[in-house]
Amino acid sequence: MSIPPVALITGAGSGIGQITTELLALEGCRLALVGRTESKLQSTIDLLAADIADPPETMIIAADISDQRQARAAVDMTVERWGRVDILINNAGIATLSALEDADADLIYQMFAINALGPLYLVQRCWDTFVKHKSGCVVNVSSMAAISPFPGLGVYGMAKSAVDGLTRAIMTEGATHGISAYSIAPGAVETPMLRANFDTRSLPTQNTLTPENVARVIVDCATGRRTEDAGSVIPIPSPGS
Ligand code: NAP
Repeated sequence: MSIPPVALITGAGSGIGQITTELLALEGCRLALVGRTESKLQSTIDLLAADIADPPETMIIAADISDQRQARAAVDMTVERWGRVDILINNAGIATLSALEDADADLIYQMFAINALGPLYLVQRCWDTFVKHKSGCVVNVSSMAAISPFPGLGVYGMAKSAVDGLTRAIMTEGATHGISAYSIAPGAVETPMLRANFDTRSLPTQNTLTPENVARVIVDCATGRRTEDAGSVIPIPSPGS
């Protein structure tokens, strides 16, 4: 019997991350769920228990990935428990609407720290275990805003462009170690993040993706079903766009 892969998923307590966690559980992965709010992560564990007859081993790690020490500790706790990380899903993110001319230093820093630096810190800390096991797969959740910014999402789109750069850099430095990376760039997805910024009048539900639409692509990349797309940005446009 093969050893179940270990996946670390950030932002696992809601939206795209929650459904991705469930799909990876169905693939038999052992799962480290990372986010700042423990109760949200617990709600994902409860969902797995309700939906899956024989849920895999899981652990909850309350951490702010924009804090380098906490990001490193999240990887260390996973490696201490299971001896490895095979799959890193960099899904956690924030999107605060602001016109370019209004974005203050705090907003700019937060946007880059959570959306771009956190993923980098996690990749750095996973590197040793990836190299040791001669394999590792990183799936970075980017955004269509990196390709075609919506007004008010310019700084967010800049940070997501940095994530796309991280995907390419991982391919350049990781290929000889069996490490691959993907960027997934969804349009509007029906999640708490979207609805904190846009109501259904300005963005009707029929023009949005479901979290599952996106999670399925993430999991296909993470489980080796889309190796031909490694290193690229995979767009998932909103319906009707
Ligand atoms: P969501 O439901 O708000 O999920 C984001 C998750 O990230 C939350 O569970 C949040 O949990 C976690 N998070 C935020 N800051 C964090 C931090 N500093 N450290 C650790 N965890 C943190 O939104 P979502 O739409 O599913 O977003 C998932 C990803 O998809 C994001 O990267 C987002 O940019 C991207 N995306 C979303 C859309 C969309 O339309 N929804 C479109 C394109 C791309 P805590 O607050 O508890 O930490």
